[in-house]
Amino acid sequence: MARMVNENGCGDDLKTTALKEPGCGSVRGGPQHAGAKELANLYSPGKRCQEWISVVLCFSLMAFNLFHLLANFHLDHIWYILLCIVAGILTADFASGLVHWGADSWGSVELPVFGKAFIRPFREHHIDPTAITRHDFIETNGDNCMLTLIPLAYMAFNFLTHSPAEVYHNYLWNCYVMAVAIFVTLTNQIHKWSHTYFGLPSLVVFLQDCHIILPRKHHRIHHVAPHEMYFCITTGWLNYPLEKLGFWSKLEDLIQSLTGEKPRSDDMKWAHKT
Ligand SMILES: [Zn+2]
Ligand SMILES: [Zn+2]
Repeated sequence: MARMVNENGCGDDLKTTALKEPGCGSVRGGPQHAGAKELANLYSPGKRCQEWISVVLCFSLMAFNLFHLLANFHLDHIWYILLCIVAGILTADFASGLVHWGADSWGSVELPVFGKAFIRPFREHHIDPTAITRHDFIETNGDNCMLTLIPLAYMAFNFLTHSPAEVYHNYLWNCYVMAVAIFVTLTNQIHKWSHTYFGLPSLVVFLQDCHIILPRKHHRIHHVAPHEMYFCITTGWLNYPLEKLGFWSKLEDLIQSLTGEKPRSDDMKWAHKT
């Protein structure tokens, strides 16, 4: 089996992961881990239904909005459009970090409704990082599709009701929102690819190698326990600057001083389930 080497130089096969550092392998993760099994069993038919509805609505709205953006495209704005797309990608990368950091560090699977539906996948991912590679398209992308529904629906409503002059006036803003929406929607697919070591399309590998999307080696840094850095998982472009600023740790110190809650205590609890 292929081997994965973590940041401390500890070799792990792809089915298991060391959850405690230093001293590789003091707690082992993977599909057979008690916590991973329990978390996988909490995936419910209701959750599956929510994911299906989100995917269908999101891709329909995205196709509708893209059609209108292309129909109103003017070449004279190309540099501004490119700038808006880059700004949109950076916004999506930051948003991925913020949501990932929030779900990893705070809250609990025991929270009513929200915990099982939205915190559970983050806990499962740390104990069994390869589970995501066995999730189908709906389970991988359902929640991210749900996040972009309101802005996409609002843009579609504007295309239907605005005059051509208003559409022209709002064009660059809509390009920015569309870039954010596309990259937020793709984030967990990109994240899944960063955990996939076999059979990736060569275009995906090329985009990873050029660091246009999250590279595999780059994302491994997050998977060294206690999972306290490199939270951005769309492109990962913001990970290094945010770590340099101590952004996440300062935010955690602030929240801990205000609430008394320790970051990642629920994550630790699941990691140590036997
Ligand atoms: Zn994480
Ligand atoms: Zn991951």
